[in-house]
This record gives sequence, structure tokens and C-alpha cells, in this order.
Amino acid sequence: MDLGIKGRTALVCAASKGLGRGCAEALAEAGVDLILNARGAEALEATAAALRAAHGVRVTTVAADITAEAGRAAVLDAAGAVDILVTNAGGPPPGLWSDWSRDDFIKALDANMLTPIALMQVLLPGMIAQGWGRVVNITSGSVKAPIPQLGLSNAARTGLTGFVAGTARQVAPHGVTINNLLPGIHDTDRAQALDGNVMKAEGITMEEARARRAATIPARRYGTAAEFGAACAFLCSRHAGFIVGQNILVDGGAINATI
Ligand code: NAP
Repeated sequence: MDLGIKGRTALVCAASKGLGRGCAEALAEAGVDLILNARGAEALEATAAALRAAHGVRVTTVAADITAEAGRAAVLDAAGAVDILVTNAGGPPPGLWSDWSRDDFIKALDANMLTPIALMQVLLPGMIAQGWGRVVNITSGSVKAPIPQLGLSNAARTGLTGFVAGTARQVAPHGVTINNLLPGIHDTDRAQALDGNVMKAEGITMEEARARRAATIPARRYGTAAEFGAACAFLCSRHAGFIVGQNILVDGGAINATI
């Protein structure tokens, strides 16, 4: 399918690895020029070089912390006006509900709620002015079904989800869509870190931790960044203009719900 976005420009945050990279790759394949961000310059440059070579698109890189004001300013400065925004950042650390301090909550809110909101506030006006735009926020299945050890993620991402629900309906009249993509478990560094915690806590091997988790998913496997990226690229395509304010699970059926 021709996604109809060749020649458009996208800012993809936190995109040197994992799900962000998957989204960047799928957009590049559709002919979209990219501004890519991550903190570590080495992996970021390697990803940018791979995407340029594979897809012939323009890729600008900004090595910066997207959750910090200065980092965001540098990224937005390099990006200028964009047609497509994919928000993403690292997820908060796991722990117990009783352990987190106010500072822990502020950090999680900054990274997984206030950063995507700040990016939208800067970039939506340009999209509205040109009558076309796409925003996809990478959130988590935890907004549909809470993950006990990820209370910081449950809380912060639900705040973003509420903001998107209201805002998406206000920008839709201008040809701009905002949707959230909710990953279940995917085969990335983040998943390995979470499995590593289970391995230590339960005294089992990494393979056992992974097999146990995979067994809880109807698809009986982890998702791939490429699959996730394809879903993102579709939401950014010209075909997805009537999909507004939705929260779309990409989780192999892991969340057991009728709707
Ligand atoms: P990942 O494999 O750890 O990749 C994270 C990417 O984001 C890297 O490129 C990393 O590069 C960059 N990054 C992290 N923090 C950043 C920051 N503050 N500023 C700029 N770049 C940053 O993670 P992932 O699995 O793709 O997960 C992406 C998001 O989806 C996370 O929020 C995660 O919690 C959520 N999620 C993932 C899963 C899963 O199964 N993978 C499931 C549910 C939700 P640098 O470290 O160099 O900055």
C-alpha cells in the first residue's frame, strides 16, 4: 500500500533503538524525511546512517535528552515545522507503589506525560495552519490494564491519554490527527531489562523469564519493532485521517478485553 506520505517530514523522538527506531524505519520506507533524537550519539548516528542508506531519505540527528527543556529546545530548533510527530522516551523504573517519592513521580510525569504534551503544543499550530498533520504517541498497554510494578508508567501515561482524548477532537477539524499506540511486550532493550528484573527476583534464567512472559500472550511471542513501526506508519498515512483520538493496542492479544 502506498501510504501517501512520501516527501513529508517527521520528528521521531527516542529513536536510535527499539520501538522509536521501528517507527523511524517504517516512515523512512514510506519516503518520509526524518529528524531523529536519542541521548547517545553513537547509536543515533548508526541508525541515521542505516536509514539513509536503506531508504534514501534525509535524516537529521539531535543527540539530546528529550525530557529536559534544553534537549527539547535543541530538537525543536533542528526540526522546525514538521508534518508528523512521533513522541517517545524511556519508560520509568519498576518498583512498589509505596516506595516512590514526589521526585520519582515528577520525573515520570516529565518524561511520559509533560514532554509529549510540550512537543505537541509547539508543533500542532504548524500542522493546523497547513491543514494536515499526524501525531502518534508511544504509550503503553498499561493505560488499559495497569502493570503492578510499573505504577509510575500507569500514572504518567494515563495523564497523557486524557490530554490526547480532549485535544485530538479539537485539532481534528484542521486535518490533524492525534492517536496513541499502546505497546505490549516487544523484543527491545527495555523488555530485556524488565525480564532481567524478573530473572533476579525469581532466581530463574533469562530464557525462563522470557518463556514465562511469552506464554501469557495469546500470540505466544514478543512483538517486533518492525511490526510496531508499521502500525505507526499507517497511523501517519493519508489513509488514517478518520482515526482520531484512539488508543490502539499492539500486544499480541495480551490484554484480555472485549473492547
Ligand atoms: P528501548 O529499546 O530501551 O529504546 C529506547 C530508545 O529511546 C533508545 O533509542 C534510547 O536512546 C532513547 N531514549 C530513552 N530515553 C530518552 C530520552 N530521555 N531522550 C531521548 N531519547 C531517549 O525502549 P523501547 O522498548 O523501544 O520502549 C519505548 C517506550 O515504549 C518506552 O517508554 C517503554 O517504556 C514503552 N514500552 C515498551 C514496551 C516493550 O515491550 N518494549 C512495552 C510497553 C511500553 P538513548 O538511551 O541513547 O537515549
